[in-house]
Amino acid sequence: MPKDCVAITGGASGIGLASAAACVARGWKVAVCDRDIRALAAAETRLGDRATYTAVDVTDETAVEAWIEAAAGQGRLIGCVTSAGRGADVPALQTGADLFRAIHEVNVLGTFLAAKAAARVMQDTGGGSIVTIASVSGVRGSKGRVAYGSSKAAVINMTQVLAVDLAHKGIRVNAVCPGPVETPMVAEIHDQATRDHWLRHVPMRRYGTVDEIASLVAFLLDETQSSFVTGQAIAADGGFAGAGLTSLQG
Ligand code: NAD
Repeated sequence: MPKDCVAITGGASGIGLASAAACVARGWKVAVCDRDIRALAAAETRLGDRATYTAVDVTDETAVEAWIEAAAGQGRLIGCVTSAGRGADVPALQTGADLFRAIHEVNVLGTFLAAKAAARVMQDTGGGSIVTIASVSGVRGSKGRVAYGSSKAAVINMTQVLAVDLAHKGIRVNAVCPGPVETPMVAEIHDQATRDHWLRHVPMRRYGTVDEIASLVAFLLDETQSSFVTGQAIAADGGFAGAGLTSLQG
């Protein structure tokens, strides 16, 4: 019997790669796509033949559709995770149209294209679960995130709309909103001052790990765990998004 399969965009690094590993651990076949060919090769070294690895830019509709079709050929497509994303911490008045457009194209359009391609397959194969990776920056107005934060807010609303449009087809759609998580993207964007700033505002006073995000992703993918959960934006953020005044201790 063919295995259940999960397609993961941006699956060669960070949260996407950890999600791929969590899916493999549950016995699911994984189809990873990413635009970074070197990262794809490194992911293959880690996960081996329990996954497939395809170079795709998520803003290319034809390429995304071909990749999802190939993924569905490996087994029943039960899940799709949209982790490909681009970040920026740039003051609003220094954010040019090119940067704004580029971030929205990957984070918003790229998420939509993958979710739509996956849902088109799932509607004919008994349903499934789509998990978008949004951000706490999509629910709070943090500095420097006029492009990134607005793109993630769009992902959250898109998730809600897709959940409504696809519920009757047996497809659940949920967003995970990570707080700061140690990944290659964060290593590039967060300098020490930014790290200190985050730690002052996260009640748990630490960054999350990719595995802490991946376990929530796997829960939302798993029909035996989350079958009545759809249209939600769930934060895994050490308390950041829910916080008011934080403790003076620690
Ligand atoms: P990462 O850089 O480790 O992984 C992102 C992956 O997406 C990379 O491998 C990159 O090559 C790929 N990618 C980027 N643009 C692409 C495109 N056009 N087509 C295909 N692949 C593309 O970063 P990460 O921190 O793991 O981020 C994963 C997701 O989590 C992103 O959507 C990010 O916005 C979100 N997020 C991260 C954090 C954090 O603190 N790390 C917090 C909130 C949300």
